[in-house]
Amino acid sequence: MAPSHVLKCCQKVLAWVPVAFIALVVAWSYYAYVVELCVMERTGEKSVVYLVVFHLSFVMFVWSYGKTIFTSPATPSNEFCLSKADKEQYEKEERPESQQEILRRAAKDLPIYTTTASRAIRYCDRCQLIKPDRCHHCSACDVCVLKMDHHCPWVNNCVGFSNYKFFLLFLMYSLLYCLFVAATVLEYFIKFWTNELPDTHAKFHVLFLFFVAAMFFISILSLFSYHCWLVGKNRSTIETFRAPTFRNGPDKNGFSLGCSKNLREVFGDEKKYWLLPIFTSCLLNYHVIKDSSSTVDESICFAATFYPDKLALKEGLASSKLWVKGESMSTRMIQLLGL
Ligand SMILES: [Zn+2]
Ligand SMILES: [Zn+2]
Repeated sequence: MAPSHVLKCCQKVLAWVPVAFIALVVAWSYYAYVVELCVMERTGEKSVVYLVVFHLSFVMFVWSYGKTIFTSPATPSNEFCLSKADKEQYEKEERPESQQEILRRAAKDLPIYTTTASRAIRYCDRCQLIKPDRCHHCSACDVCVLKMDHHCPWVNNCVGFSNYKFFLLFLMYSLLYCLFVAATVLEYFIKFWTNELPDTHAKFHVLFLFFVAAMFFISILSLFSYHCWLVGKNRSTIETFRAPTFRNGPDKNGFSLGCSKNLREVFGDEKKYWLLPIFTSCLLNYHVIKDSSSTVDESICFAATFYPDKLALKEGLASSKLWVKGESMSTRMIQLLGL
């Protein structure tokens, strides 16, 4: 086996260490709360109520965490890849101006509104494709990721268009989980310091449970607040550091459609799905929406060219009625896409 291959395998295994750490902490917290605290220490109705609420927040937390980890990043569809002839010509060409000319010709019919800061077509040499707006190459995943936010080591995955909603829910449910655990353990924590707890090994679990829950709550709270602000502005973490360049120059608010629509872009149009880690996001053509002379129809086409997973797109279309004028439109789009 080649040394570089062994190194890559080691990197892949090591990348799971933070996820394994979180999984261990969560498994221990489950044991400490359910077995040591509720079953061993408590009796009666209070314990039952605690266990029901605990399991509810635990399931939602684990579900959204799992979905964030195991949802593959959405990559650009084939329309954004250069044709074989263009690719050969691009590789032969040494002058950047001529290469740009090839890219410009290839990007002519693509729904692209942003360029690099130097006004060049955004191209990924590694994936050999024209980058759609908001798409960035992730060096850890080695793919171009649609609406990439950041690569998160705690989920060993890229956070982007396909799982940003899941990531936000994961943060929210982990906050609720930590808050619930810390709040219900507090009385036992106080008893520990006043020596009112019976001298069993459960008291050490109680002590650590409170510390760990409080520590995670504080650290996740700032991250969650930051992402709530980003959703309201329709901005990704990457775009906060480097504003996208439009025809009129860099504009950090270039993708914003107003708070309500920004929220719907991530969570979908049907509020009943907002709190569930089910894919309901839609990627909108902000320019089409902002420009009243264009039709809503185009924004759906735009989302379709962006999103390669047609089954997930079907789910997304069915739930994003705001952008589809009634059922007939989504049925027509589904036919158009051959779903
Ligand atoms: Zn790439
Ligand atoms: Zn990544």
